[in-house]
Amino acid sequence: NLSDRLERSFKILKGEGKITEINVAETLKDVRRALLDADVNYKVAKTFTDTVKQKALGMNVLTVVKPGQLMVKIVHDELAELMGGKASDLHLDGKPAIILMSGLQGSGKTTFSGKLANMLKAKNRKNPLLVACDVYRPAAIEQLGVVGQTVGVPVYSEPGNKDVVAIANNAIREARAKGNDVVIIDTAGRLAIDEQMMDEIAALKQAVNPDETLFVVDAMTGQDAVNTAKEFNDRLDFDGVVLTKLDGDTRGGAALSIRTVVTKPIKFVGTGEKMEAIDVFHPDRMADRILGMGDIVSLVERAQEQFDEKQAKELEKKIRKNQFDFSDFLNQIQQIKKMGNLKDLAAMIPGLGSKIKDIDIDDSVLKSIEAIINSMTPKERSNPKIINQSRRMRIAKGSGTTLQDVNRLMKQFDQMRTMMKLVTGTSNSKMMQMANA
Ligand code: GDP
Ligand code: MG
Repeated sequence: NLSDRLERSFKILKGEGKITEINVAETLKDVRRALLDADVNYKVAKTFTDTVKQKALGMNVLTVVKPGQLMVKIVHDELAELMGGKASDLHLDGKPAIILMSGLQGSGKTTFSGKLANMLKAKNRKNPLLVACDVYRPAAIEQLGVVGQTVGVPVYSEPGNKDVVAIANNAIREARAKGNDVVIIDTAGRLAIDEQMMDEIAALKQAVNPDETLFVVDAMTGQDAVNTAKEFNDRLDFDGVVLTKLDGDTRGGAALSIRTVVTKPIKFVGTGEKMEAIDVFHPDRMADRILGMGDIVSLVERAQEQFDEKQAKELEKKIRKNQFDFSDFLNQIQQIKKMGNLKDLAAMIPGLGSKIKDIDIDDSVLKSIEAIINSMTPKERSNPKIINQSRRMRIAKGSGTTLQDVNRLMKQFDQMRTMMKLVTGTSNSKMMQMANA
């Protein structure tokens, strides 16, 4: 009946309160597992979850989401922030601007050089030059040639010459002469860190003084990526990271690990073998991917969007002063309706989900309450005391309900106001709480 249903719908308005040690422990266990599954370095995962725990404890929880769900959202935002950082644009001030590629063999340097040239060509830089400084394998020069042809960008190479510094300098001279405004230098990698390779790339960097040194790393190498990044960074102090092969089923935990360990921004991601498969790095999307809990994150976002903190505070004040009236009530109902199906929402409330599984809560409960309130005059809404028997009769007629329904709502509303006043006295179950995030 209506009164039962009403009572139930009020339970929905009452959240579980604050994030407690228990919620945190439970959720962070899942989060840590997700991070490790995504190949995030163990230490990084631990430090990260400890930080999040400190932030989350004591936070207020929005009524319609579970504390655990809010935790996931906090974790997500923290992840995105950690991987974000300020300007991650390329520095392209030089004339010509010089971009140096570094990374292990097979990480995707040559492919990425072509992708970047292609992207810059379409954007602000009209005229890039690719430079072949992987001089050890003849096939490497050919490969860059093919890449250049595919994207319609010239390639500078000196087959037979093994002096990469000389080749790079010659290429830059040619770029100046021919008006190339950006020079992308593709270099040789090794299968593992190797002193000779490091010496060579360091010498190259020193000689050409690049505007941007990029470290290219295969996202699928997971844990190893961190060590490699660290060694390259110690030696080169690179400016940014390119994470390739994100089109595979890797969750991309390397992004977080690398970012944490070397504190350099991830600037681009590679998402395929084709020249178009390049993307600017989006911390937000990567956080979704690493956590693999995108549904929860968007659920919480949706909920947060619908509840306006200021409005919630106003409401609380009204409740304290026992001024909560039918207009506020109507407002709350409309908020709930905006969030979607009532039963779905109710099912998200901790402890309530299983109980209401078989109960028929449909939105018509809210509809008849709405109808009743809509049939009240503004004066009646703000001052329910004046609603006497004849007014109730009029309201019932106007709303297409019965006098009994109206009476029940009036009684329920009265009880609710009393309850609300009691409840707001205790700090952890405010009506319509907002996460103070
Ligand atoms: P390099 O040795 O660092 O120059 O690496 P390459 O550019 O030659 O790339 C090595 C292999 O990885 C090639 O087969 C590329 O086609 C492939 N590759 C590079 N980037 C990506 C990517 O983002 N996604 C996928 N699926 N393959 C890639
Ligand atoms: Mg190569």
